[in-house]
Amino acid sequence: MAQRASSPVTLLQSFRHASTGTTLEKTPSVSSSIPKPPVAQKKPSAPAHSVLSTKTLLRSLLVTTISSHRALLVPCLSILSFLAKPRGFLLDVDRNPLIHWTLKKSFYDHFCAGEKETQVRDTIHQIRSTGLRGVILTYARETVQDSGANQPKFGHNQVSRDDASIQTCEYIDAWREGVLKTVDMLGDGDFLAPKLTGAGPKVTQAFSSGQPVPTQMVNALDEICQRVVQKNARILMDAEQHAFLGGIHNLTLDLMRKYNRNGKAVVYNTYQAYLKSTPATIASHLQLAQEEGFAFGLKLVRGACMASDPRHLIHDTKHDTDSAYDAIVRGVLQRRFRGVAEDRFPSTGLFLATHNIDSAVAAHNLHQERLQAGLPTVQLEFGQLMGMADGVSFGLLQLKDRENAAPGVYKCLTWGGMGECLGYLVRRAAENRDAVSRTKTEHLALKAEVSRRVRAVFR
Ligand SMILES: Cc1cc2nc3c(=O)[nH]c(=O)nc-3n(C[C@H](O)[C@H](O)[C@H](O)COP(=O)(O)OP(=O)(O)OC[C@H]3O[C@@H](n4cnc5c(N)ncnc54)[C@H](O)[C@@H]3O)c2cc1C
Repeated sequence: MAQRASSPVTLLQSFRHASTGTTLEKTPSVSSSIPKPPVAQKKPSAPAHSVLSTKTLLRSLLVTTISSHRALLVPCLSILSFLAKPRGFLLDVDRNPLIHWTLKKSFYDHFCAGEKETQVRDTIHQIRSTGLRGVILTYARETVQDSGANQPKFGHNQVSRDDASIQTCEYIDAWREGVLKTVDMLGDGDFLAPKLTGAGPKVTQAFSSGQPVPTQMVNALDEICQRVVQKNARILMDAEQHAFLGGIHNLTLDLMRKYNRNGKAVVYNTYQAYLKSTPATIASHLQLAQEEGFAFGLKLVRGACMASDPRHLIHDTKHDTDSAYDAIVRGVLQRRFRGVAEDRFPSTGLFLATHNIDSAVAAHNLHQERLQAGLPTVQLEFGQLMGMADGVSFGLLQLKDRENAAPGVYKCLTWGGMGECLGYLVRRAAENRDAVSRTKTEHLALKAEVSRRVRAVFR
C-alpha cells in the first residue's frame, strides 16, 4: 500500500507482538530513528489474548493444540466428517448424549455460539465484554456441497418433499423462520450473515439458471431486512459457490437499492478477491450505486470455495489473490476504483472479513493516514470467525487512533443445533489444517498467555 515508511512498519510490529502474546513495552522500537507515525497509538499494556476468560483461554488452547498437530487433527477431522453424514441413533450427534457432550465441550463451544437462544445471548455478551464492537450472527442450517459431486444437497435435518406439488416451499419457510429467530438475537450495530442457498432447491436452482427467485423468497428477504433495520443492525450477505454468485449478487443489489438509503449501507454483498473477475464486478456495482444513488455495502473476503469453484476462474497463486485483495482495499479506501472517480464515488461501507494480519493492518494504516490528512475515505470495519484468529481481532483493537478509539472489529458467530453445525465445524477444522503457520502462531500466543497467568498467581 502507498504509505509513509514509518507507519506500516510500526503498526505491523506492534500488531505482531500483540498477536504473539508479548507486550509492546518489551519491544525494542524500530522507529526510533525515523519520524513518528502519523497515527497516534496508545501502547497496549497487556497482550492481545489477556481479554479472554480463563475458561475460553483453556478451551482455545486445547483446540489449537489439536489443530496445530497433524497427527491429532487428521483423525479428528475424519471423525467429524464421519458424524456429519446421517447415521443411526448411536452415532447421531443430537441423540447420543456422550457424543453430544464431547463435541459440545470441545469443538462446538469453541467455534459455535450456542444451540439455544439463551446460550447464544450469553456468547454475544461475552464477546462484547472483550471490547469487540459486536457480532455477525449466522444460522447454521445450509446446503452442503458433496466433495465428490457439484450438486448441492441438503442437510440431514431437512425433510425431503416434492416441492413442485406444493404452493409454499417448506425450505424457504424453515429458512425464513431460522433467520428471523437470528435477527431477534441481534443487538444495536450487529450484523446478520444469511446464507441464501440455505433456503433450498427452488432458490439454488433460480440462482444457477439466472431465473428470478420465488416471490416467497423475495417477501421473506423483505421481512428480514425490515426487522434488521428496526434493530439498527446490518446484513452481510454471504458469498458462495461461483455457480450461485451472480444470482446472490443481483438479489442483494436489489435489497441495497431499497435499504441503503441516505448514505448508510445496511445491506452488503460479499466479493471474493480470489476470482479474477472480482475487480470488474465491484466496479460495475459501484457504478450502479453511483448512478442510482444508493449506498454501497462491500464485504471483501479472499474466498472459501477453492475446492469446488472452477480453478481457471481463480487467481493462479496465493500471491496474486493477496495482491488483488490489497489492491481492492486500497482503491476503495482512496475512493478511486477502476474509473469510478473520487468526486462521484458512492457512500460506501467496507467490511474486511479476513484473518490476514498484513492486509488488515495495511488497510487500517491507510485509512488512518487519510483521516489524519483530511482526505476522503470510506467507513472501514473488520471481522474474524469465532474460535479463529483471536490474535488478529484483539491485536486490531489495540491499534487505537489519536482519539483513542479502537477500530470496529466483529466476531462472526454461527449458531444452531449440533447436527446443523457439524458441516460448519468440519470446514473450520479443515481451514485450521490448511493455515498451519497461523494456527501455530495462535497456539503459541495462547500458551504464552496461559504461562503469564500461571506466573502471575505465584508472583
Ligand atoms: C468473518 C468472515 C466471513 C467470511 N465470509 C465468507 C463468505 O461469505 N464467502 C466466502 O467465500 N468466504 C468467506 N470467508 C472466508 C474467506 O474467504 C477466506 O477463505 C478465509 O478468511 C481465509 O482467507 P484470509 O483472508 O483470512 O487470509 P489467508 O489465510 O491469507 O488466505 C487464504 C486464502 O487465500 C486464497 N488462496 C489460497 N491459496 C491460493 C492459491 N494457490 N491461489 C489463489 N488463491 C489462493 C484462498 O481464498 C484462501 O482461502 C469469511 C471469512 C471471515 C473471517
